[in-house]
Amino acid sequence: MSLAAPTIMTHGSDELRTRILRPTITGEVTWTQLFSEPGAGSDLAGLTTTAVRDGDDFVVNGQKVWNTSAHHADYGMLLARTDWDVPKHQGISYFVLPMDQPGVEVRPILQMNRHSSFNEVFLTDARIPAANLVGDLGDGWRVARTTLMHERTFATLRRPSFADGASGRTIDEAPAEAADHFATYAWYPQRAGRPDLVAERARSFGRNNDPIVRQAIAELVSFQRANEWTAERARAARALGRAPGPEGSLGKLGASGVARRSARVHGLVSGASAMLTDGPHLHDAVVAEVLVSTPAQSIAGGTDEIQHNIIGENILGLPREPSVDRDVPFRDVQR
Ligand SMILES: Cc1cc2nc3c(=O)[nH]c(=O)nc-3n(C[C@H](O)[C@H](O)[C@H](O)COP(=O)(O)OP(=O)(O)OC[C@H]3O[C@@H](n4cnc5c(N)ncnc54)[C@H](O)[C@@H]3O)c2cc1C
Repeated sequence: MSLAAPTIMTHGSDELRTRILRPTITGEVTWTQLFSEPGAGSDLAGLTTTAVRDGDDFVVNGQKVWNTSAHHADYGMLLARTDWDVPKHQGISYFVLPMDQPGVEVRPILQMNRHSSFNEVFLTDARIPAANLVGDLGDGWRVARTTLMHERTFATLRRPSFADGASGRTIDEAPAEAADHFATYAWYPQRAGRPDLVAERARSFGRNNDPIVRQAIAELVSFQRANEWTAERARAARALGRAPGPEGSLGKLGASGVARRSARVHGLVSGASAMLTDGPHLHDAVVAEVLVSTPAQSIAGGTDEIQHNIIGENILGLPREPSVDRDVPFRDVQR
C-alpha cells in the first residue's frame, strides 16, 4: 500500500492506475518487493533477472531474495533487466508481476529470530502482460527510486491501521486473516529496539540507581527524541505535499541508531538474562528477540553505509563514490 500505490500513481499508465490502485489501497490485493538478488543488494542496479518480450507478454527468468511478504502477496514490484547492451542503470524495467502462476516459486527463509517473514523467489519463464510495465521500457531505475524513497520514509511514518472488513471477506474472516498476517510480523517492534521498555526494565531489575545505566538510558532517550523530531519535520514536509527526499535516509539512519543503542542498553540493564527466551523477569523473551532482530533495521531498505553515501552525495554535495561500471554496457561488466 505504501510502496506500490505511490509508485504506480507517479509512473503507471492510466489503465494500470485504474486497474490496480483501488484494490491496493483497500487491501484487497497485497504486494511484495522483488528488487534484491543474491548478487545485487546495495548494488541493486547490478541485477541480472531478465525479462524478454514475447508477443503480448514479457517472460521472466532469474532469482530474487529477502522478499518480505512474498509468501502471501498477490503482486510483485519486479525489477528486471530488459537490455544488456546499455549501462546498468539504463537497461532495467519495472513490472507488476502476478505472483499466482506456475513460473513463480516462493521459498520462505527462517531468520535467526525464528520468524519467517521474508523469502527467496525463483522465476522460471514467469509471464507478465505487457500492460503491467510501469513507466517506459528501460526507465525502471527511475521508477524504482520512487519506491525506495517511499520505503526510506517508512521510518518517519506512523503505521497504517487496517479496517476490520474488506470487500470479498466476511466480517469473521477479516480479523482472522489480519491476526494471521500480523503474527508473521510480530517481531517488527523488537527490530526497532524497544526503547520504550528500557526505563521500566531498569526499575524492575533494581538497576535504575546505577549511574552508568542511568547515563546510558538518558543518552538513548535523548537520541530517540531528537530522531522523533526529525521524523516530525519529514511528516510536516509530506503534509505540505512535498515528495519524500533525502530526509528519508536521515530518518532511516536515525531509526537504526535508536535500535542499536537500545539493544545495547537492554543488554547493560539485563546482563546475561537478556539471552533468556523465557524466565521469571518481565519481558525476558522480548529482550532476547530485540538482540537478534535489531541487526535487520540496519539492512532492510538499504544499509546504513548506503544511507551514509546518499546523505554524503545528495545532502552534503560530496563527490560521487568511485565506480568502474556505470558507463559501459552491462553485458561487459565483470560479475
Ligand atoms: C528484514 C529485511 C527485509 C527485506 N525486505 C526486502 C524486500 O521486501 N524486497 C527486497 O527486494 N529486498 C529486501 N531486503 C533486502 C535488502 O534490501 C538488502 O539486504 C540490502 O539492500 C543489502 O543488500 P545485501 O544484503 O545484498 O548486502 P550487500 O550489498 O552485499 O552488502 C554487504 C555489506 O557491504 C556494505 N556495502 C555494500 N556496498 C557498499 C558501498 N558502496 N559503500 C559502503 N558499504 C557498502 C553494506 O553496507 C553491507 O554492510 C530486506 C532485508 C532485510 C534485512
